[in-house]
Amino acid sequence: MPKYVYDFIEGNRELSDLLGGKGANLAEMTRLGLPVPPGFTITTVACRAYLAAGEPPEGMFDEVNRHLRAIEARLGKRLGDRHDPLLLAVRSGARFSMPGMMETVLDIGLTDTTVAGLATLTGDERFAWDSYRRLVHMFGRTVFGVPDELFTAEMAAAKRAAGVTAYSALSAGDLHGLVGAYQKVFHEYTGRDFPQSPHEQLDLAIRAVFESWNAERAVFYRRQERIPADLGTAVNVMAMVFGNLGPDSGTGVAFTRDPATGERGVYGDYLANAQGEDVVSGSRNTVPLQQLEQIDPRSFHRLMSIMDTLEHHYRDLCDIEFTIERGALWMLQTRVGKRTAEAAFVIAGQLVDEGIINLDEALDRVSGAQLAHLMFPRFDPAAAPAPLAVGVAAAPGAAVGRVVFHSADAVSAAARGEQVILVRRETNPDDLPGMIAATGILTSHGGKTSHAAVVARGMGRTCVCGAEALTVDPDAGTITVAGTAGGGAVGTVLRAGDLISIDGGTGAVYPGAVAVRSSPVVRYIEGDLAPESDQLVAAVDRLLRHADTVARMRVRANADTAEDAERARAFGAAGIGLCRTEHMFLGDRRELVERLILATDDAGRDEALAALRPLQRADFEALLAAMDGQPVTIRLLDPPLHEFLPALDELTARVARARALGTDPGHDGQLLAAVRRMHESNPMLGLRGVRLGLVVPGLFEMQVRAIAEATAQRLGDGGDPRPQIMVPLVGAVQELEAVRAQAEAVLAGFDGLPPIPIGTMIEVPRAAVTAGEIATAADFFSFGTNDLTQLGWGFSRDDVEGAFFGRYLELGIFAVSPFESIDTTGIGRLIAIAVTDARAVRPGLEIGVCGEHGGDPESVRFFHDAGFDYVSCSPYRVPLARLEAGRAAVRPLHSRSDTR
Ligand code: ADP
Ligand code: MG
Ligand code: MG
Repeated sequence: MPKYVYDFIEGNRELSDLLGGKGANLAEMTRLGLPVPPGFTITTVACRAYLAAGEPPEGMFDEVNRHLRAIEARLGKRLGDRHDPLLLAVRSGARFSMPGMMETVLDIGLTDTTVAGLATLTGDERFAWDSYRRLVHMFGRTVFGVPDELFTAEMAAAKRAAGVTAYSALSAGDLHGLVGAYQKVFHEYTGRDFPQSPHEQLDLAIRAVFESWNAERAVFYRRQERIPADLGTAVNVMAMVFGNLGPDSGTGVAFTRDPATGERGVYGDYLANAQGEDVVSGSRNTVPLQQLEQIDPRSFHRLMSIMDTLEHHYRDLCDIEFTIERGALWMLQTRVGKRTAEAAFVIAGQLVDEGIINLDEALDRVSGAQLAHLMFPRFDPAAAPAPLAVGVAAAPGAAVGRVVFHSADAVSAAARGEQVILVRRETNPDDLPGMIAATGILTSHGGKTSHAAVVARGMGRTCVCGAEALTVDPDAGTITVAGTAGGGAVGTVLRAGDLISIDGGTGAVYPGAVAVRSSPVVRYIEGDLAPESDQLVAAVDRLLRHADTVARMRVRANADTAEDAERARAFGAAGIGLCRTEHMFLGDRRELVERLILATDDAGRDEALAALRPLQRADFEALLAAMDGQPVTIRLLDPPLHEFLPALDELTARVARARALGTDPGHDGQLLAAVRRMHESNPMLGLRGVRLGLVVPGLFEMQVRAIAEATAQRLGDGGDPRPQIMVPLVGAVQELEAVRAQAEAVLAGFDGLPPIPIGTMIEVPRAAVTAGEIATAADFFSFGTNDLTQLGWGFSRDDVEGAFFGRYLELGIFAVSPFESIDTTGIGRLIAIAVTDARAVRPGLEIGVCGEHGGDPESVRFFHDAGFDYVSCSPYRVPLARLEAGRAAVRPLHSRSDTR
């Protein structure tokens, strides 16, 4: 028979799958000999069995009773004893902490009889009734769902009757009366008496914890955070200790370092004569933990030494809950504490300095997502007023602008050059133009998967959504601050045109224009700030440099201009993974493309191409110079040629106007005919990429010649040019072979060039599944994961993100947009097939990625595991990709640490 119950002394922190995080850490502290009240944990296995059968598994309650008797024996108290009752805390605790799970029930075991025993035993009648009052409330609320307001109304009535305002001023008699009133509330709401059997209280509380696994909020949270739905929760049952036994008792929370800045020191809050959630509920004023040194120096020093022990043991920042009962210190919880991005880097650096962890481990303690967060400009905390509201941090950035309520207003304001924040209850596809025009987007409804959040992330707009303290009324043109979520002034009204500031990294919404501070990390990366000048920057510098030493993958940048290439280099890019040549055909060069398209004979076409060539050559020369000594991957022209022509409706209007005036539309008429002829219903699937090169004579040859000329020129200037030629949209080896033959013929006309690799993008599913063939004609592969995702899923990105991705995310069809993070099971499978088949043919084949996923922290790890040589991403993302490439190299597959 499986073992369903573990005494705290039997468990340890490795067992968090079985015992939940809280239980595993209580066990670990017990094993360390720290003062933890005795108790036991009912396993997640028992929970899963309960949820499957609707009943606890056979033997579970026998085990519970056996462990209960052991506690009774140890403490010399018995559950339900009328003279010396044992009281229990029942606490939920899953592998990952999540909202919506059942809250803790304290003081289980109190009944109309045992309350008297507790009073006599402690000599404190008020304490006994206070505890019983808490039990009826917590038990009623969490086990039976009795609404809080019903209890708080009774509390208010009791204070009024006693003529006092503070709870502490109520006498033992008042509290006795209050318990009676609470029990009446309980009876009226549940239709039954408050249970007078302590064992029944315990039994019901345990079942309620199990059932809370499927509470709506918990289910929703798990889906959002990608936590498997079938883990189940553990239940911790332990003896109570009392922080509410007078001024020499109390309860508190502590951190071993400041979780906001990483600063060493004493951080926490303490509240005398209090129990449980009193500390965090904000109903009474806590004191800073330092003051405990005056209140109870012995407990304070004991706590400091325990914090030290825990930090050395966990080798990380710990977050702690404790209670002092009449001068005796008890530990009630610890875990590796959550921290801000800044603190994560600072602490990792400190722990290395202190010799507690090594640099590889330090790398594992930070993430590319955190580094990205630190690279956004931020609001100056000193300049920020109290927030009006705090919503969901949906897309990062610090945006300041004037309030607009309608998409059209955002568009017209932006056209006047104004910065605006589009404020909506929620957004829908009609709001798209306004979202593009706005600096930031704020909604009062919806979470991370709402339309606003999905679209904003896709476009890189700052977004705060679900700021529920705000009532948005677009018709009245007002935002009313209805709640106190952010501590801001209730009832404040904002109107269109008012300035607000939204922080997409924290979800805070501020009134007015808050001063924005540039990121010190960016200033350091750009070379404007010395690493030693700042603790955070020093830590970032050290970890980035370490990442570069351990990484197997290199990081290149997607850059089209020499300027971008220089920035990328400063950000640490080892080459260019994607130079899009189409950007070289815009502006006044468009006219040359028009001539190419309109040419009626070979001579006209050759002339247009000949005019384009020197321009291309100059572009390439500048790029090769900026990336001297590093690979520069140049993609031959990819988009359909008609994208370079004026839009159909514009031309139609111009031609119609000319005709109406009786003049000859001339050139416009020819262009219009060309646009009509070249129209495609699905340009994404039409004449583009390699197809262009095979259909438009001379086009790719011209580009290859320009590359060769630029290379020769750079060589002549004493440079070290390393171009690579990349063919887009190949689906069949024959396509690549044909282009390669053309290119090689051109290159053969040059003497003394370095070898110029000719490779292909893998972005059409057919290319991935025939990669073994394609590899025979390719010197390198670069996965174009944007198109591979579009074509693999059959999604047109521009159409689907705003239309239905929110719904798909809500339904859990995918947990994150496949355009944000690589879909490892589907598109990832195509990639894996391609890598395996290609390397079987050409073991040393260079493989990289140039889609946006190359700069996505989660995807970088996938590419490392898939055997890639490099990732390429936008220059701004190069640092985070470097960090993730390093992390992927030091982090064994099995030890993906919990970053939730
Ligand atoms: P959460 O998961 O929300 O932190 P906990 O299970 O930690 O909930 O319980 C909340 C609070 O209840 C704790 O911070 C602690 O103050 C109090 N508490 C928990 N167990 C005990 C106990 N055995 N004795 C006294 N207080 C307890
Ligand atoms: Mg807790
Ligand atoms: Mg593509």
